[in-house]
Amino acid sequence: MSQAEEHFSTSAEPAISLRHVHRIYHLAGEDIHAVNDVTLDVWPRHMTAIIGRSGSGKTTLLNLIAGLDTPTEGTIHVLGRDLGQMSEREKLDLRLHKLGFIFQTFGLIPLLTARENVGVPLRMRGLDPAEREARVDEALAWVGLSDRAHHRPYELSGGEQQRVAIARALAGEPALVLADEPTGQLDTRTGRRILDLLRRLVEERGVTLLIVTHDPQVMAEADIVHEMGDGHLVDSRVKTQVPA
Ligand code: ADP
Ligand code: MG
Repeated sequence: MSQAEEHFSTSAEPAISLRHVHRIYHLAGEDIHAVNDVTLDVWPRHMTAIIGRSGSGKTTLLNLIAGLDTPTEGTIHVLGRDLGQMSEREKLDLRLHKLGFIFQTFGLIPLLTARENVGVPLRMRGLDPAEREARVDEALAWVGLSDRAHHRPYELSGGEQQRVAIARALAGEPALVLADEPTGQLDTRTGRRILDLLRRLVEERGVTLLIVTHDPQVMAEADIVHEMGDGHLVDSRVKTQVPA
């Protein structure tokens, strides 16, 4: 039994489970083994980080988990569902209803206000306007940006833009939030604030958070850290300070 399995043996089943996952890209006659035999469980209601230098396969792995890409080999379960058995439509529904996404470059739509940006995924879900607005306002308040609701991304600092992105992710009340280098574009202090918000997402909202990163602050904060090197999972460790 691994350290992680031992630690979580009393908790529910993993939120994400990968078994012998490979992703090989064929590019200009060359095979690139971006993800190479990764077996991994991500435990619910914790902050898990996947670290590794640039090109180690982190983003590829996140795209596979999101169902945006398909493994060349291996199986992936997300929230109890086998992605390999799901249609594109079912995977889209899973993303819309259960997943939230946070990106290094925030991923906001430039011409929309903060409020409109936060509402986009809820609109795609066809939520009625009253419920949508209520959720948007609550999410903006939660990230402390009620007073920036009518600002467009270019009228916001990087840290504020990332808070809007967090509000957008949480407005859908996701079970699982996937973040790709969420502090990569921010200075250390702003990154720290964003990390505090992400921690609260886990503590207060019971979200399962998976972050891929090479930010040492994130590594220090995460409950569980997996390290990738050259497509392989090379190390996994559980911190001593895991929240109850
Ligand atoms: P990381 O996020 O850790 O920087 P990536 O997952 O983006 O790493 O990339 C892993 C490897 O796969 C790299 O060698 C990268 O060049 C390659 N790669 C990523 N996406 C593609 C693609 N669509 N086509 C071909 N090669 C790719
Ligand atoms: Mg990447």
